[in-house]
Amino acid sequence: MSGNGTPERIEALVIGAGFAGLYLLHRLRGLGIAAIALEAGDGVGGTWYWNRYPGARCDVESMQYSFGFSEELQQEWNWSERFAGQPEILAYANHVADRLDLRRDISFKTRATSAVWDEAAARWLVETDTGRRISARQLILATGCLSSARLPDIPGIEGFGGAIYHTGQWPHGGVDFTGQRVAVIGTGSSAIQAIPVIAKQAAQLTVFQRTPNFSIPSRNGPMTEDYAQTWKRDYPARRAAARQMRTGILYHLNPVSALAVPEAERRAEYEARWAAGGTAFMAAFSDLLTNREANDTAADFVREKIRGLVHDPEVAEILLPRNHPIGAKRICVDTAYYETFNLPHVTLVDVRRNPISRITPEGVEAGGATHAADSIVFATGFDAMTGTILAIDIRGRGGLSMREAWAEGPRTHLGLMVAGFPNLFLITGPGSPSVLSNMIVSIEQHVDWVCDSLAHRQRHGFSVMETTPKAQDDWVAHVNEVAQRTLYPQANSWYMGANIPGKPQLFMPYVGGVGTYRQLCDEIAAGGYPGFVFTAGEQVRAAE
Ligand code: NAP
Repeated sequence: MSGNGTPERIEALVIGAGFAGLYLLHRLRGLGIAAIALEAGDGVGGTWYWNRYPGARCDVESMQYSFGFSEELQQEWNWSERFAGQPEILAYANHVADRLDLRRDISFKTRATSAVWDEAAARWLVETDTGRRISARQLILATGCLSSARLPDIPGIEGFGGAIYHTGQWPHGGVDFTGQRVAVIGTGSSAIQAIPVIAKQAAQLTVFQRTPNFSIPSRNGPMTEDYAQTWKRDYPARRAAARQMRTGILYHLNPVSALAVPEAERRAEYEARWAAGGTAFMAAFSDLLTNREANDTAADFVREKIRGLVHDPEVAEILLPRNHPIGAKRICVDTAYYETFNLPHVTLVDVRRNPISRITPEGVEAGGATHAADSIVFATGFDAMTGTILAIDIRGRGGLSMREAWAEGPRTHLGLMVAGFPNLFLITGPGSPSVLSNMIVSIEQHVDWVCDSLAHRQRHGFSVMETTPKAQDDWVAHVNEVAQRTLYPQANSWYMGANIPGKPQLFMPYVGGVGTYRQLCDEIAAGGYPGFVFTAGEQVRAAE
């Protein structure tokens, strides 16, 4: 039913059909809870549906960046590379949707625009951009952490004579840059992956860098049968171990301080990790994210590597990250990023020294010079963690809007619920490990916890669950306190909201670690959900 008539009724409404939405539909079905998902795109996959830019690839190994809840799924799927590229991950998401027969419960090309808590009915009334009105007992936001692509406020963008792209909203048919003059603005993870690939096609590539980032070579390569089988033979134990790790990724975390070993030993450890590739570089020593002196040893090592990779010392100097501890901004992983700046048709513009003043019809004006371009690629990031949630006009108890509740920054209990918003759950929300972790591991843990709480309510006949302001205040304080013990707040990162002018600045994800966080959540569930209030009323029914 659409329009202003009686709204459609459903027990649970999921927003988003990325990995979180897919697993939710599967679990809810298993509980006998009628659920549907709304998805803005015309396919499943979330992040991997939208981010189709050249070179898009996961920086968690394929054998670990996949669902662990089903032995059949993990045995039957074969990855072709150590780090899977976007098309393969999207194919995997589609496989999961088909294998579990989830598509029939997903409404594609449908964006939720508002969600209002109806006190009398104890239900959410959700409206969409297609005019649908849906009444749902449970509302679960599986909206992703990096879903609101953001163009910067540079004047003149609309007057540009060529083509404009954002890495986070890439055209489905791909883009052929052959023979073109291409400008890339930004040097975060997306740009660092895209630049080497675009450079292979473009006649001329100009990269506009405001802040250099630390990037580690991925050493990506074809998946070997041996390596895949090592994992597949031992999947249950390995998945269980990964779930207890700080990042939800199984790798060797050296328990030793970087400052406790002689220089030669330290260097050997960094060299080994650099040669192995990937983000495990940051696990070289135990205190790289908590002790600045220790961190400096890793940062110095990577700066030295950059100097060695880039032939022109002046260009190398511009590429050296100096304004934040390594890892305090999301560490990047690349394939031949620094080497790309040795190519004769690639130019680096230091935007700090030559600020971008405007986009002209011909190209990008920076430091008084115009850099002509046929295409501009904005790799300028996202309104992370909160942008997509706040884009929906959400009103909880007493008409309280989420935008008001989060005016000073996001406040949640465990990143799972927000006081004043009953029966509304966030998956990998701010205040949970989310973006500091292997997202699929965190998604599974969140979905399991939410579904277990629903099963608990089914058993006890509670129709409404909410968190208390006190539990939320305590959790927010804990999240801040733990973050302050690390080097993370020392970087102006999107983790802090620093990339969006006017966004409140506080460290959004929970740095306590995936294993610790899981244990806390499990204890809360086992202890009868302290910090949450249940209202007995109309029994939550399996289907309405
Ligand atoms: P990002 O990390 O936020 O990077 C945006 C870049 O654009 C930064 O270099 C930023 O410079 C620059 N920028 C923004 N506004 C600008 C302006 N007005 N003028 C000049 N430069 C400007 O975004 P992202 O690269 O899309 O990555 C976002 C996150 O997505 C990553 O951190 C990661 O979590 C995830 N991701 C992961 C992978 C992977 O798994 N390998 C790949 C891609 C993305 P400043 O730093 O100075 O603000």
